Amino acid sequence: MIKTLIGRLLGGGKSEPKAPRIPLGERVEVPESKHGIDASLLDDRAVKVVRTLQEAGFEAYIVGGAVRDLLVGLRPKDFDVATNATPEEVKGLFRRAFIIGRRFRIVHVIFGRGRDHEVVEVSTFRAYLDASAAEQVEGNEKTSKSELAGKSHVVDASGRVLRDNVWGPQIEDAARRDFTINAMYYDPTTRIVVDYHGGVRDVKKRLLRIIGEPELRYREDPVRLIRMVRFAAKLGFEIEARTREPMPRVMELLDNVPVSRMFDEMIKLLQTGHALRSLDELRKQGMQRVFPLLEVVFNADEVRERFIRLALEDTDRRVADGRAVAPSFMLACMLWHDVQSRWAQLKDAGEPPVPALQQAIDAVFDARIGDISGRGKLAADMREIWLMQPRFDRRTGNAPFALVEQPRFRAGYDFLRLRADVGQADADLAEWWEDFSLGTSEERDALVQAVREASQPQRKRRGSSAGAAAPARAKPAAAVAGDGAVPAEGEGGEGGDAPARKRRRRRKPSGGSGGDAVASE
Ligand code: ATP
Ligand code: MG
Repeated sequence: MIKTLIGRLLGGGKSEPKAPRIPLGERVEVPESKHGIDASLLDDRAVKVVRTLQEAGFEAYIVGGAVRDLLVGLRPKDFDVATNATPEEVKGLFRRAFIIGRRFRIVHVIFGRGRDHEVVEVSTFRAYLDASAAEQVEGNEKTSKSELAGKSHVVDASGRVLRDNVWGPQIEDAARRDFTINAMYYDPTTRIVVDYHGGVRDVKKRLLRIIGEPELRYREDPVRLIRMVRFAAKLGFEIEARTREPMPRVMELLDNVPVSRMFDEMIKLLQTGHALRSLDELRKQGMQRVFPLLEVVFNADEVRERFIRLALEDTDRRVADGRAVAPSFMLACMLWHDVQSRWAQLKDAGEPPVPALQQAIDAVFDARIGDISGRGKLAADMREIWLMQPRFDRRTGNAPFALVEQPRFRAGYDFLRLRADVGQADADLAEWWEDFSLGTSEERDALVQAVREASQPQRKRRGSSAGAAAPARAKPAAAVAGDGAVPAEGEGGEGGDAPARKRRRRRKPSGGSGGDAVASE
């Protein structure tokens, strides 16, 4: 009975004039000797979830991106599990499991606590319903409910899938996934890969191939276009010509994707571990206008490009080392020059530096990010990184001691370092802050003292405009301060061992180094 219904839904019915055929594929079991997955790359917890489900009599597999990554020899960053158990049944098998999501109801099985906790995502096999089939289900609520025991599956006028909670057999679950290489199932017990769409072969050929009729699949979910770019960049795979062909026709559908989903996709694109390749791939596919924020990058002049390049290379290194990447830092880098030029304009118009910077930041958020609800923290972190920059020029009095205690100091400092690397900030200034942040209390005092002494004679000579140039002279004291530190070449013996004499809150910071160094790029 189910077969007949599915047959009808899938376009086999007589009343279907020209519904696109959905290739369900054929179940192929690929043994370990052929796929060669290194089982040591598996995650114990994901394996445990699979075993628990199997022992309770359900089918369960590691699925999707994790299988793909295992096949190319990468350690997956997360493991998803697919099963024929319903979310309620899954939940019942684990002590700490939560049903989440509306669009896709899935179960989070939680291991560990606090910061080290790990989530294994378990989803129930879903039915594949293309736009026309879905209309039938919608139009025939009774049949769909009784036959598929599903909850709902809704598409909008352009064929976009809005909700997708109709359970189905594994063969359909595979067909509704996006690319052949993302539609494989790995059973850690038998070590067999179940492959319906030639995914194993495509991984070997390093080919990105969409399942089914490409245009239909992009209409269902235009975000697949961006996912394609992401996987091409991450894996260095070619995009199959047929998969690429409809892109120019469907690209505009991305305009209808909610801003926050687009934002998430953009962040993922920058965190593939190959951020520059992601940008190149976007350009190659004519998608450089898809993300307003990235347009800044594509239209960058030489200096900006170098800055962004350095930032992204740094991001890639972090991903490669398995370290966390803060999206706020990445975005702060990308939008910095925008902020900076607006800031300069405002100051030229007579606005004092700090309010000018704040206004510049507001303007850039409006223009490039728009209103993304729930991004408060990200925006606050970006703002903080930027607002910290002029503060790095204030190295006397209490200012540096207060700055170094800021929770986001490290991000702000890394940003300064990057600016120094492209010649926008003084390299000595960055070094001074490195020394200061790592220094003991005495060393810090010495560093501050050295800045003060280095700037005083100059101020006498040049009046009060010593400002930005002065701090760089302070480096010698960094050497003097640290015990056993190598003295800087031929400079600054006179800082001597004076530092400890003067205490922190002695005086207000002198007005000279008010922060304009940042603006004058
Ligand atoms: P990553 O390594 O970046 O997480 P991934 O392939 O695991 O890549 P996820 O977004 O975690 O990507 O999705 C998990 C799986 O769910 C995918 O491998 C794919 O099978 C399926 N999937 C995700 N998004 C879509 C989509 N928009 N359309 C169809 N299938 C999708
Ligand atoms: Mg994933």
